[in-house]
Amino acid sequence: MPTALVTGASSGLGAEFARQLAAAGWDLVLVARDVDRLETAAAEVRAAHKVTVDVLAADLVTDDGCARVASRLAADPPIGVLVNNAGVGTYRAFGEAELEAEEQQLDLNVRAVLRLTHAAVTAMRPRGDGRVVNVSSVAGFVPRPGNVTYSASKAWVTIFSEALSLQLAGSGVSVTAVCPGFTHTEFHERASADMSSVPERMWLDARDVVREGLADAFRGAPLSVPSKRYKALVGVAGALPRPVLRAIMARRGM
Ligand code: NAP
Repeated sequence: MPTALVTGASSGLGAEFARQLAAAGWDLVLVARDVDRLETAAAEVRAAHKVTVDVLAADLVTDDGCARVASRLAADPPIGVLVNNAGVGTYRAFGEAELEAEEQQLDLNVRAVLRLTHAAVTAMRPRGDGRVVNVSSVAGFVPRPGNVTYSASKAWVTIFSEALSLQLAGSGVSVTAVCPGFTHTEFHERASADMSSVPERMWLDARDVVREGLADAFRGAPLSVPSKRYKALVGVAGALPRPVLRAIMARRGM
């Protein structure tokens, strides 16, 4: 089995991507900043599955962190699946959050995805085989006033992935944007976001999101919106006139 590289693999969706890929027999390279948590995640996966798991500690906001992960994507043994999963949201009013926080959000959610996808596609294309899975969000389909830069960053990830999948059609390399809705992970806690207004029925389980996202990626789908309820919401959002969609989002606030 070739190897899969997962960013943001120390918690939430990334840790679940690692578990499900390992269960399918993939060797792994796990990337995040916190080396202790990465080692714990790696030990858990090694104990549960007979696969090789390497840990690569890297801050993907930095040039050095991106360059070290890009080097691994270009090296042997070849990476057959790249999951660009690491991402953050600020959930703070634009202009109130420091500019540095907004820039770091773009660096991680957009620039790192661009750089690592570039490294992966450069290596995969001559082999005629590979999968890039870019974790985006349903937030990229709507203008969210409470998470402005985040919405825009995920719109970029989705369109980038869809456009690249068209360019790579027939090459043996597929690109999939996986767009989850609200999912129980550490994401909102890290952003100190108050999510009490989001009803329980709108929350997804990371296992279901990753199962559906991987199934869509392995059949080469350019876009994956896990769960029927979020597929329906994205369909409605796309069909609404933009002024109506903006009015709804203005009322929702987040
Ligand atoms: P999470 O539990 O907070 O996990 C985020 C992961 O990213 C952690 O492993 C974290 O590890 C890593 N990370 C953060 N900053 C990093 C950096 N600068 N360099 C390298 N790694 C970094 O959140 P999650 O929900 O699983 O988020 C995964 C993806 O899903 C994100 O792209 C997010 O936008 C997307 N998403 C989440 C939701 C949701 O409701 N949870 C919905 C839609 C989309 P370290 O702190 O150790 O670096």
